[in-house]
Amino acid sequence: MSMNKAQLISWLSRLNEVYTDKKEYLTELDAAIGDADHGINMNRGFSKVMEKLPTVESKDIGTILKTVGMTLMSSIGGASGPLYGTFWMKGGMIMGGKEELNSEDFAKVIEAGVDGILQRGRPNLGDKTMYDFWAPVLELIKERAGNGDDVLTIVEAALPVGEKALADTIPLQARKGRASYLGERSIGHQDPGATSSFYMLETLKEVLS
Ligand code: ADP
Ligand code: MG
Ligand code: MG
Repeated sequence: MSMNKAQLISWLSRLNEVYTDKKEYLTELDAAIGDADHGINMNRGFSKVMEKLPTVESKDIGTILKTVGMTLMSSIGGASGPLYGTFWMKGGMIMGGKEELNSEDFAKVIEAGVDGILQRGRPNLGDKTMYDFWAPVLELIKERAGNGDDVLTIVEAALPVGEKALADTIPLQARKGRASYLGERSIGHQDPGATSSFYMLETLKEVLS
């Protein structure tokens, strides 16, 4: 099974609902180690994506992904705006003309997106950022795509890996972003950006199922 355009649109619409529901929770996580705006940021970003979506819905997947990235980039601000903006845009740049994504395409989109996060934020593994979520998830996705699994099977397999990666951010000391200003006091809290990234994967599984 591939991922078609209707599923991509459902993913984005559902994400908008999820970030509305999780606005307070993500903001609480960010209040503990940041500036208490991550939920507000994600909610604002995806509301804007929903406003923009009708203008590109009939276009190819690459255009839709690029539009999501540009919209997040210009509406979120802070650290996560450029990071998520690049994440979605990079995938879009290599999927021009596509009406659906097979597992190989899907793995390439995630890989390009994670590369974008690396280029923008220069995070290292263990710095307590969204990259700590994406690194093991990407590895699993590439491995499963190489085996020829379909997109839903890949996402189902990636979810427990992501769940563990997310929990594993709790004992880490932040070394990038605002949370790093807290030094050792950042230990014992789940990273907000890794959490919002986890919702992307969880929501995708829901939409494809
Ligand atoms: P800000 O910190 O500017 O208020 P947000 O609160 O929206 O931005 O996002 C914070 C999240 O961004 C963090 O939880 C972390 O996951 C991620 N982040 C911050 N800096 C970096 C970085 N250099 N590389 C990767 N991710 C980062
Ligand atoms: Mg913040
Ligand atoms: Mg901020």
